[in-house]
Amino acid sequence: MDKRNVVDIPAQSGMAVRVRAGQIISLVDVEGEQVADVFACSAARRDEWLSAGHTRTRTRRLFPRVGDAFYTRFYRPILTFVDDTSPGAHDMLYPSCEPAMYRRMGADENHPNCRDNFMRAAKAVDWAPEVIPDPVNFFQNTPVNAAGELEVKTALSKPGDLVTLRAEMDLVFVATACAQDLAPINGARCTGLRLEIGGPGDLGAIGGGHE
Ligand SMILES: [Zn+2]
Repeated sequence: MDKRNVVDIPAQSGMAVRVRAGQIISLVDVEGEQVADVFACSAARRDEWLSAGHTRTRTRRLFPRVGDAFYTRFYRPILTFVDDTSPGAHDMLYPSCEPAMYRRMGADENHPNCRDNFMRAAKAVDWAPEVIPDPVNFFQNTPVNAAGELEVKTALSKPGDLVTLRAEMDLVFVATACAQDLAPINGARCTGLRLEIGGPGDLGAIGGGHE
């Protein structure tokens, strides 16, 4: 029997979960139009993390597609993208939002941000990278146009849309509900996400963080 563990990620915050190889992770955009920054690293060695750049190189694509794997910086598959109920717009080019970006946009430097939310959530499961990996930004609708420019658009995902991933190794998985409310990527307001972990094994330690 499929036993599901559910983790709610409040708006403008992040959560970390331990996932075993073979388990299925569903990432749900609960209210729609909400970007999810996703990070992952090997449970066996924290310096082997999901690399958006290595994934682009390995898949020869700018954006993730169902059927493809995501790769670590050592070119090993760490997650496979197995299903997607959203219109399919996702990003693999942007770093997470961070204090310097919000300062540049004229906001207070204490504005909630995915970088700090990632670090806080990851630290709770003993992952403290010196360099912040570029995330996979599920539901982020920032396509490349014919002129080679990145366009910044609102996420296309509807309430309840979800992406499904399979863990290809024992790993630590971190997702942040993007805190960006100065650009239109998250629609009219920032909202929360939900993680559902299914399959064999127990959900391990959970760590969270938000401002
Ligand atoms: Zn963000």
